[in-house]
Amino acid sequence: MHMGTLVAITAVGRTQEEANAAITAGFQEVKRLEQLLSTWIPDSELSQVNAAAGRSAVRVSLETMVLVRKSLQVAEMTEGAFNIAIGPAVDAWNISAEPRLPTAEELAALKPLVDLQHVHTDVWERTIYLEKPGMRVDVGGIGKGYAADQAVMVMKKAGAMAGVVALSGDIKTFGRLPDGGVFRVGIQHPRKEGEIVAEIELQDEAISTAGDYERYFEKDGIQYHHILDPRTLQPARGCQSVSVIAKEGIWADGLDTGIFVLGAERGMELVEQLEDIEAIIVDRNGRVLISSGLRNRVRTSHGVDESKLNH
Ligand code: AMP
Ligand code: MG
Repeated sequence: MHMGTLVAITAVGRTQEEANAAITAGFQEVKRLEQLLSTWIPDSELSQVNAAAGRSAVRVSLETMVLVRKSLQVAEMTEGAFNIAIGPAVDAWNISAEPRLPTAEELAALKPLVDLQHVHTDVWERTIYLEKPGMRVDVGGIGKGYAADQAVMVMKKAGAMAGVVALSGDIKTFGRLPDGGVFRVGIQHPRKEGEIVAEIELQDEAISTAGDYERYFEKDGIQYHHILDPRTLQPARGCQSVSVIAKEGIWADGLDTGIFVLGAERGMELVEQLEDIEAIIVDRNGRVLISSGLRNRVRTSHGVDESKLNH
């Protein structure tokens, strides 16, 4: 367990030792990034940025700066649907620890804090400043994909020929299996546990899935999950799951969350505009939409209404 999730690493090496060394290196890299970025760790760089909200700018490593800047880029691409200033609202719902239903007044009061206008990054000074007291950045929607990218990098350096790094639904693959095969990934059915909606083969690609079934609680028959719409600070209702395929995990992870909030229709429009980004979206009614670039690559399972596929 790292970054609040189950991490699984597979490596192909010329020898067992080489493969083991690559796996060890991969796990160490994930742990290193957790220390840097996790807002659950009080002295992580991002926790220091959050603690200084409304008071001062905090100097960060180049790596943290790049991740935050790329997060802001995803925010722009998704018209603010992806928003790392969402922290105070994530805390109010506390879905990962002790879930509760915040009142409308409470959420309204948090609204000014969830505003990316008040996140200031100075690339030259390498500082991040959150302008208002109580603001908190949360890279939970993009950090696992980034960690998968970095883990793959160190595994390659350690000599691995191929492998898979999976932080639950944030997966990055590289190379081919010894028999020449590529890595086949199944996409979980958002409403039927143990069933998949589609299968796809990946080579040197990342896939990330955001789903409303991952982390949620139920109250009075209503399910509340962990992906929040920055406009309402309520769980986003436009999709059941969004899987994004990209060369890099950082984009796959950032975009899966952003597209989930944008909703199936606008989300798929965005995917079709972006180069090297593909997606499989299960919309709120359970319809499966597949981006045009995946048309010949995805195998859908029974139960999927082929006529509803978005070609
Ligand atoms: P993912 O599983 O990649 O969709 O990430 C979900 C996590 O991202 C949540 O647990 C929150 O920490 C965070 N999050 C929730 N809503 C948003 C949002 N609208 N933009 C960015 N991050 C979010
Ligand atoms: Mg994400």
